[in-house]
Amino acid sequence: MRPFEMWEPSEVAQAVALLDSAHLAPGSRAPRLLAGGQDLLGELKDDLARPAALINLKGIAGLDEIEEVASGGQSPHALRIGSLVTLARIADNATLQERYPLLCAAAVSVGSPQIRSQATLGGNLCQRPRCIYYRNAAALCLKKGGRECFAEGGVNRHNAILGGGPSWIVHPSDLAPALVALDASVELTSPTGTRELSLADFFTLPADGDVLRENRLGPQEMITSLTLPAGGGMTGAMTEKATGGRSGDVRQVYMKFRERESFDFALVSVSMRVRVVDDRIRAARLVLGGVAPIPWRCLGAERLLADKPLEPQSFAAAAQVALAAAEPLEQNAYKVPLATTLIMRAGAALTAETR
Ligand SMILES: Cc1cc2nc3c(=O)[nH]c(=O)nc-3n(C[C@H](O)[C@H](O)[C@H](O)COP(=O)(O)OP(=O)(O)OC[C@H]3O[C@@H](n4cnc5c(N)ncnc54)[C@H](O)[C@@H]3O)c2cc1C
Repeated sequence: MRPFEMWEPSEVAQAVALLDSAHLAPGSRAPRLLAGGQDLLGELKDDLARPAALINLKGIAGLDEIEEVASGGQSPHALRIGSLVTLARIADNATLQERYPLLCAAAVSVGSPQIRSQATLGGNLCQRPRCIYYRNAAALCLKKGGRECFAEGGVNRHNAILGGGPSWIVHPSDLAPALVALDASVELTSPTGTRELSLADFFTLPADGDVLRENRLGPQEMITSLTLPAGGGMTGAMTEKATGGRSGDVRQVYMKFRERESFDFALVSVSMRVRVVDDRIRAARLVLGGVAPIPWRCLGAERLLADKPLEPQSFAAAAQVALAAAEPLEQNAYKVPLATTLIMRAGAALTAETR
């Protein structure tokens, strides 16, 4: 591991000010934020990241809270989760378990208990790709400033089937698709203030932005918190008229398929949430993980599900639509039937729920 300085800010303002490379000697590599270290320390050890300094966020008070925020009379209130909250706390929190079991299931599926006790929400969303070429310091791939995505014509069992090109990474986070399905937003803080972005808009496809990055974080920005909307979300997608003035019940499920049951990243995951009135689906969210460079929201399938009966056939049709645009590489066509089956299983689980 190469030497680096360790900086210990006690406030967010200090931390983002330190992200300015002007603090460093000319030619030094930009500093990096350090949260639980479960990804970044691996990158340092493997010589994938060479920052001149690490900015340790752990000494900043207030970033590790889960709190209700007043939401103009809407019930239940919105929930704010600080970026330093660990995945273990998300998995175990009673309010989250009651209102967002989909998120808790995603959190508990990550790695091992040791990893979950250190890994944080902010770090999980900003972790770098697991593609074998990206993780090999000797392979100068597109994601590391090279000219080629070696996965496209190489070993690509784990790579993207949707939204790929020119890089074919998949986003490795389990929490990201779950939180997109929950209509979450992120608060980003920089020296000039804060801005709020829907989490779905936070992530970027390789073809849309800077291929070296996976999200829209500015050079001096960090995630300070994430908010789950008041009223359980999906309210905008359903008018009172459409539901006859009844809000119906919201059902949600997270399913993950991985190679090894002990701990592993998702080959495919499904985050699904539906609002049901009189046994009909009135609004749906369907987001796939492990298949694309971003959490993959299946908008066509969501539209198809709206106003369909809550029955397995509806989810079978939605799965066909969700995977219609898939473009597998040589070794990963198996992800198409895998994702199709997982969507149908998730739908069957929601159908079978009794109220
Ligand atoms: C063996 C193993 C198995 C794993 N399995 C899974 C799995 O199944 N599912 C899964 O989702 N993940 C898995 N992971 C990845 C792990 O969950 C992530 O590495 C972890 O969540 C990262 O969080 P952290 O707090 O440790 O981040 P760090 O390692 O500290 O940081 C990660 C990145 O995020 C940046 N960062 C951190 N905090 C912020 C912030 N607030 N704002 C902006 N940028 C920030 C850092 O600069 C760094 O680039 C696994 C990891 C290992 C080692």
